[in-house]
Order: sequence, then structure tokens, then C-alpha cells
Amino acid sequence: MAHDLGDILGQTHALEQLHAMLAADRVHHGFVFHGPAGVGKFTTALALAKTLLCHEPSTTLTGQVEACGRCRSCRLFKPPAEDDADDPLRPVSHPDLHVVTKELSRFSDDANVRQRKLTNIPVDVLREHLIGPAFRSAQHAHGKVFIVDEAELMRREGQNALLKTLEEPPDGTFIILVTSSEERLLPTIRSRCQRIAFVPLPEDVVTHYVKQHAPKLDDPARQWVTRFADGSLGRAQLALNRGLTAWADALLPALEQLASGRAVPELGEQAAEQVDKFAEQWVKDHANASKEAANKLGAALLASLLTVEARHRLAQTAQRVPAGDPLAGDAALSPWLGVIEATQAFGQRLGSNVNLKLAAAGLAADLAAALRPTPTPA
Ligand SMILES: [Zn+2]
Repeated sequence: MAHDLGDILGQTHALEQLHAMLAADRVHHGFVFHGPAGVGKFTTALALAKTLLCHEPSTTLTGQVEACGRCRSCRLFKPPAEDDADDPLRPVSHPDLHVVTKELSRFSDDANVRQRKLTNIPVDVLREHLIGPAFRSAQHAHGKVFIVDEAELMRREGQNALLKTLEEPPDGTFIILVTSSEERLLPTIRSRCQRIAFVPLPEDVVTHYVKQHAPKLDDPARQWVTRFADGSLGRAQLALNRGLTAWADALLPALEQLASGRAVPELGEQAAEQVDKFAEQWVKDHANASKEAANKLGAALLASLLTVEARHRLAQTAQRVPAGDPLAGDAALSPWLGVIEATQAFGQRLGSNVNLKLAAAGLAADLAAALRPTPTPA
């Protein structure tokens, strides 16, 4: 992960906006970086922080302001170790860069806050790590930057507590809210911030990333990871680090079998097992994660894998359907629309706390029903 604005991939429009502000020396004090997960919002926030905190920023020939890379502040932005790759939250250790995440609650002085589940950013964490320090002076006398990752996890109370600081931040204090669910931020928060939109990355950027990080992957697997990534390096990374290609290897042929009229009785159990194994490993790798939350994450990945495949098949099928034959079109498309519906129903069952095994069995039954070939009339 890079820490310089010049290294951010595929976010031309967002970067143009930031560079224009830096060049004009009119950087807003509050930002909302919004857009899909895993497309570089947090990385860009870190790079902007590095530029803002730099003691001797320079201007390039093309007029872009850049961090010098040599000063006392820049030297604190070391690239993270490779094995931390799927944990973008390991913060840079810089006295004037404050990264606020839901994980911070485990370091709270307050035992009640420590014991709460990490599903939101408690208001006490915001007070301790943002609102309080925002009004203390910077250690390097070159400003302070606060990044709130997954900012949508601030509840209404927390967001309200932040309003005043966002409205009148002390001089040289910048607050960047990073979120993939901007609609969960209060309108009063959004209206006080400069909103910067991040978009899915172009396919060639993702392909290049996959080639670099998994040079041994064969072509079909690489294409599958790129498709699954759907413009997000975060998703590509997850697929590679968590062995999701093995899920695809097992599940996609099963869909084929169902579509050709053969039963796959083990499908539900197999899917539940994959999710369960994923969740167990996830809990081992993330000290404070709950098994329940990890199960949900695994199930969401499974649903997403199926949805991506169905969308791909729909696009392929739509190209093959002869123009002017709407009936043939409907017949060819409806199985894959059915797969999408099946994954939505799966998500709803898990959302209403049906256990994983049952939900996966339901999913398998729905998939079989959706893909079962209709008998051709004699
Ligand atoms: Zn510097």
C-alpha cells in the first residue's frame, strides 16, 4: 500500500479534486471519502494526510503539491509489512495522525466500552480519539489529521457529538470520514464536509494487481478473481488471501450440474462448511472478531460469488439471444435471475438469524429450483 497521492490507482476524478485544493492551498477541513469498499479511499486518506502533515511539501512541474518524503513527518509514513496486507487498519505511527476505527474501543479506558462488540464506533471512542485531541496542539506544529474509517459505524449520538468539531475545527485540523455507506451519515455531517466520490477501478488495474500478487494463478482463475473483484482491489485481495478461488472451483461446476438437470445433494452442506472454515480462520487472524460476525462476512462473500457469476451469465446469455425473440430471451435469462433471487433470500434468512446450515440448505434448494431445466414440450 502506497502512501503518496501519486501512487493511487484509478481514481482520476477524486485525485484531481484533491490536487486542485492542495495547489490552491484551499483544503477543506472536513471530508467524506465515499464509494465502494476496497477502491482506495483509506489509502488516499493516508496519502492526503502525509501531504498535509509534510513539513516541506513541494510543487511539481505540473503544479501538483507533493509530500517531500524526507522530512521528520514523512519518514513516519513507512509502507506496511506485506503480511499485514489484509489489514489496512494498522495505523501509521505518527503523533499528529489519528486513525479512528471501531477496533479502538478495545483500548478504551472504560471497561464497558472495551467489552462492547465491535459493530459500531462508540461515542466515547470519538471523544477520546478525535474530539479531545482535535483541540490539543499538534506535536510537530504542522497540523493534525483525523481519519475515521468505516465512518458509517458512528451512531447518531456519535455523529451529533462530532458536528461541532466539523463545523469549527481548530486551525490546521483536518477530519476525513471514510465510508462505503454514505447514506448512513447524517445530512448535517455530509453538508459540513467536502464530499469526494471514489469509483470502481478499471478492469486493467485489477488484472494487473492480480497478476502481481498471484503470479502462479492460471488464466481462468485470474479472470475469475478479476470478475469477482468487480473493480475493488480489496475484494481481489480477499479472494486471493482467503482462497476464494477454491470456493469458485467447487461451486461453479455445481451450478453447471444443476442447470443440466443433475442433483447436487451435498451443495448446501458444502457451502455451509466453506463459510464455517472461512469464519474460523478469520476469527483466528483477527483478535477481536466474533464468530457470528465472521460467519456473516463469509456468507456475504458466498452470496456475492454467486451474484457475480449470475450477472456474468446474464450478460453472456443476453448477447446470444436472437433479437426479436422476447420469449426465448426470457427463458434463457430467467434461471440466472432466479440465482440472484436465491442469493437475496439467503441474505435475508441470515439477516433474520436463521442458522448457517439451515440457510445454506435453503440456498441450495432455491438454486436447484432456479436452474432446473424446463422439460421441452413433446
Ligand atoms: Zn515531508
